[in-house]
Amino acid sequence: MTTKPTIMKFGGTSVEDSEAFRNVARIVNSASPQRVVVVVSAIGGFTDALLSSVEKAIDGDAPAATRSLDQDFERHLVIGKRVLGSEARAAFESAIAGARNQIRELHKIVAAHPSTNAPLRDEIVAFGELLSSQLLTAVLRENGLATSYIDARRLIKTDESYGAAVPLAETTAATQAELVPLIEAGETPVVGGFIASTAKGATTTLGRGGSDYSAAIIGTALDAREIQIWTDVSGVLTADPRVVPAARTIPVLSYQEAAELAYFGAKVLHPKTIQPAMDRKIPVRVCNSRAPREAGTLIVSESEATPQTIKAIAHKSGITTVQITSARMLGAYGFLRALFEVFDRHQTAVDVVTTSEVSVSLSIDDASALPEVIPDLEKLGAVEVEEGRTIVSVVGEGLRGTPGIAARVFSTISDINVSMISVGASSVNLTFMVDDARARETIVRLHRTYFEGGTLEDRIDRTVADVLV
Ligand code: ASP
Ligand code: MG
Repeated sequence: MTTKPTIMKFGGTSVEDSEAFRNVARIVNSASPQRVVVVVSAIGGFTDALLSSVEKAIDGDAPAATRSLDQDFERHLVIGKRVLGSEARAAFESAIAGARNQIRELHKIVAAHPSTNAPLRDEIVAFGELLSSQLLTAVLRENGLATSYIDARRLIKTDESYGAAVPLAETTAATQAELVPLIEAGETPVVGGFIASTAKGATTTLGRGGSDYSAAIIGTALDAREIQIWTDVSGVLTADPRVVPAARTIPVLSYQEAAELAYFGAKVLHPKTIQPAMDRKIPVRVCNSRAPREAGTLIVSESEATPQTIKAIAHKSGITTVQITSARMLGAYGFLRALFEVFDRHQTAVDVVTTSEVSVSLSIDDASALPEVIPDLEKLGAVEVEEGRTIVSVVGEGLRGTPGIAARVFSTISDINVSMISVGASSVNLTFMVDDARARETIVRLHRTYFEGGTLEDRIDRTVADVLV
């Protein structure tokens, strides 16, 4: 393609009502002298409603399942009424009626055969993005843009892991074949995020929040100029603003910093979004659809990001830690394998791991299988469990080679008990655990030190450290 397109992805809160749709139309319009592909999520809250309707159907009450969506269909109709002219509105109303009928039939099948729920759940939730993308296509067209509605299932091909499907290599060719001719003809394609299909044509979904991932997949296939994630906050922030009101937008991040933050962060970016963009070195920009003039956060390769600095303090509370102590570890091999096999068997993901000569500490986010995990672990050693812990992670390329950062972090919070400290050789994060009860002050103090100038003492320390380096 002669001019590379920009991918603009709008999340559920950017399309929650008629005013939000109008706003998106303004944003796309002002970008449209460039080549643009629009990716859109279901309207805010609809995916949750669709998923819980499936649960109702599994419980056997198909009519209740279908009825539970009435309000959401009504929301779509209200938006259509407010933003579309009569012809487009009639077409959209008949799309809604069609979706309603199909969902009703699907609910009946799920209620009669609850074991079919995995593929049919995806078939049902897909209506969220199918409808929002049709509606947005019509809205953009009313605003004078040459748009075409494209069913994402023709572009993104996946395996059969319903609910968390994995894209296949043929996605690239399929996406190019569908979109390149349109883009070259000056059209703006509008695609629903999150949804995809198998080789056999069954509908799949990419996991919750997966529209970002769709945007990255499409952007990579088209070798986009930039992938823009439009959300309701001004980019990626230096800390969770609910904990640190002084948190501010980070102007530039490296892919690796962004990946670390996506894992902990305030759900601004789906963790899988970074990898495809990074492979092709496509910049990713996180923008605020409610403040479109703000620059947001630009995510680029390591060499382009400001390398010497700390960018953010991320955290995750409600974590459980497990410590296994056994003298059998001393000089033995196979112990760690046996240990991780236990977590594997009970399908429990482990996040942070630290080891000493005779003990291993692990953190887990989802502790629901712990009652089964613990007896198995007790065969290996003494087990201690602590709940209510917070993982704190200081993130920045500056950690790669700047001396003294760990000392500064821990001196800032020297009166707070920390455990499970970990920092890898080439890593961009320094991670440790504190009690949930001390999390807020830990984060507030670190933020003050790194981002708000700190106390006079901190500043003197830092200047002295800089001079000494
Ligand atoms: N609508 C989907 C969800 O709510 C995908 C997305 O919003 O990114 O998970
Ligand atoms: Mg999202």
